[in-house]
Amino acid sequence: MSAQSLPNRPMNANSSQPDPPLQVFSIDSGEPRGALAADPPLHPTDEFLAELARDSLSLESATPQEILKWSVERFAPKFTMATAFGPEGMTILYMLSEIAPDTPVFNLDTGYQFKETLELRETVKKRYGIEVEYKLPDTTVAEYEAMHGGPLYATNPNQCCFDRKLRPLHGAAKGQHAWASAIRRDQSPDRAKAPIVGWDKKFQLVKVSPLANWSKKDVWDLILKNDIPYNPLHDQGFPSVGCQPCTRATQQGEDERAGRWSGFQKTECGLHSS
Ligand code: SF4
Repeated sequence: MSAQSLPNRPMNANSSQPDPPLQVFSIDSGEPRGALAADPPLHPTDEFLAELARDSLSLESATPQEILKWSVERFAPKFTMATAFGPEGMTILYMLSEIAPDTPVFNLDTGYQFKETLELRETVKKRYGIEVEYKLPDTTVAEYEAMHGGPLYATNPNQCCFDRKLRPLHGAAKGQHAWASAIRRDQSPDRAKAPIVGWDKKFQLVKVSPLANWSKKDVWDLILKNDIPYNPLHDQGFPSVGCQPCTRATQQGEDERAGRWSGFQKTECGLHSS
């Protein structure tokens, strides 16, 4: 079944009563993850964490391009990025195409993405020559829904995100030293605490957020000025686009991520929360 043909979540989305907090899932394999599994490994020693904190502070007034250049010089070829082709991700891809087009970039293809999102991957390839690699879960949508007696996004989106996004991302992060994230501090209270450079405890590697100090306007100014391709759904009331069943258009005055997992006590897929 394609994401486009999936029904919207049948329950909760329009309920005035939010569901109780969702179960939290985490990788607990006991095996080294992320940069700890790299060759050579990076370990979050006190000295290294202090060095990252100093670097982060010194990059506070740097431009996103300067932060990306610093990241590539410091961590390539073990520097990577995951993108869902949002406006911020498209902005970073544009910058990377000028700074380091060989940077490996991944998309977590849950099987539930909008066709408009998948088409952007092709546009990026044509426009920038950057081939964004799909990282897939270990089951197809049909297999996964058969295993669970239906779509889990309707009842347990945390497990669905864990199985279809976080597990593949843990696989992609394994052996890398650092990854770029497209988060902005003004997107949510969770994201407001993000350093420019810090240790990502969940994935066990360095996380660089070149757009942390940018506003939505900064991102869109760059997109429009440079004709950077973007998801057409943004022009149809979807400021933030995730998987089709878990994304709705937002109303005027709503938070830009209000359309994600609407009706659940969930605001993040887990990539950017600690
Ligand atoms: S966003 Fe929704 S469909 Fe996508 S992985 Fe998470 S719960 Fe599943």
